[in-house]
Amino acid sequence: MILFQQVEKHYGDFHVLQTIDLEIKQGEVVVVVGPSGSGKSTMLRCINRLETITSGNLIVDECKVNDRSTDINQLRRDIGMVFQHFNLYPHMKVIDNITLAPMKVRGMSKKEAEEIAMHYLEKVGIQEKAHSFPSQLSGGQQQRVAIARGLAMKPKIMLFDEPTSALDPEMVGEVLDVMKTLAREGMTMVVVTHEMGFAREVADKVVFMDKGQIMEVSPPEEFFSNPKVERAQLFLQRVL
Ligand code: ADP
Ligand code: MG
Repeated sequence: MILFQQVEKHYGDFHVLQTIDLEIKQGEVVVVVGPSGSGKSTMLRCINRLETITSGNLIVDECKVNDRSTDINQLRRDIGMVFQHFNLYPHMKVIDNITLAPMKVRGMSKKEAEEIAMHYLEKVGIQEKAHSFPSQLSGGQQQRVAIARGLAMKPKIMLFDEPTSALDPEMVGEVLDVMKTLAREGMTMVVVTHEMGFAREVADKVVFMDKGQIMEVSPPEEFFSNPKVERAQLFLQRVL
């Protein structure tokens, strides 16, 4: 579903992604971990071309992301993204946040989009908030709305960039539970997170990044009990 081949990215003189090779299959859950500044967000954002790569190949759902002939809007329709700061439209009710893209981009009728919105709000457990504004919701609820908004586009891939990092601790679990359900249902997911319990429980593979490089790709049971590289050992000592 996602293939990085020898991908390089520079920000000016700064070599932020160095020879990235990574394959993510349909239905896989890949958790990306590593120190702050190691390039995790940049790698994630290349997948839907919020960032462009400098060289190499990046293929998503059989499209070369950086080819001129690739319809980037088409590709983005199939990729949902959830950010650390929920990025809901504050002046729009929850339900309107969710129906906006399906109506504008997928051309759905209002009625159809609202039915789908209610379905996904129910799925994330907050259908009763459909007619509230984002500011009337807790952080955990807002993040669940953001996930429902992504799902309403029926994406093939969901990207999560530290989705629980801005939440109060008591709200982390409710968001992770929604993500666990998605994973169990077979969604292809790439998740940047510091929640090592989630990685251990849900990941098919853990990708450890440091200084712009992928240092290790391992199944979670191996990564957490016997990391291959010293920098991963040091990282785990700090975060566990
Ligand atoms: P992470 O998500 O692992 O914390 P990022 O991908 O956000 O790391 O950033 C990796 C490095 O690239 C950091 O050193 C950051 O300062 C730098 N960086 C990120 N975005 C830009 C940008 N737009 N221009 C220049 N440098 C950037
Ligand atoms: Mg980041």
